[in-house]
Amino acid sequence: MTAIIPTEEERYLPATVGEITSLLASTCDACGRTHFPTVAECPACGGVVHETRLSRGRLSALTEVTATPPGALIEQPYNVGVTDFAEKIRVIGLLDGDAVVGDEIEVVVFEYHPERSTFAFRRRTS
Ligand SMILES: [Zn+2]
Repeated sequence: MTAIIPTEEERYLPATVGEITSLLASTCDACGRTHFPTVAECPACGGVVHETRLSRGRLSALTEVTATPPGALIEQPYNVGVTDFAEKIRVIGLLDGDAVVGDEIEVVVFEYHPERSTFAFRRRTS
């Protein structure tokens, strides 16, 4: 089986750096499981899926990364967190700014290297 790796642009709604966005996921019409990144069909049961947008969650774990692998563009140290979304899916990603376990999270576009961006989790302030 060949894994298809989506590009960054296919993982979240287009937005500019620092703006709120949503992760693009798939939810199965048959079993209800949500998958991120999106899938063409449910890998658990083969069912038909529809698009789901993940926008708010709660931080369930975080760590500081102090050593990067060779060739990494991001400069250490940086923070990585795990967010639990209401859609019953857990996603790992970069953290934008300070946060603690239990914080409510929004998804934003984060520039980790000049002209390179991806999604990140940021503590909701409102
Ligand atoms: Zn399914």
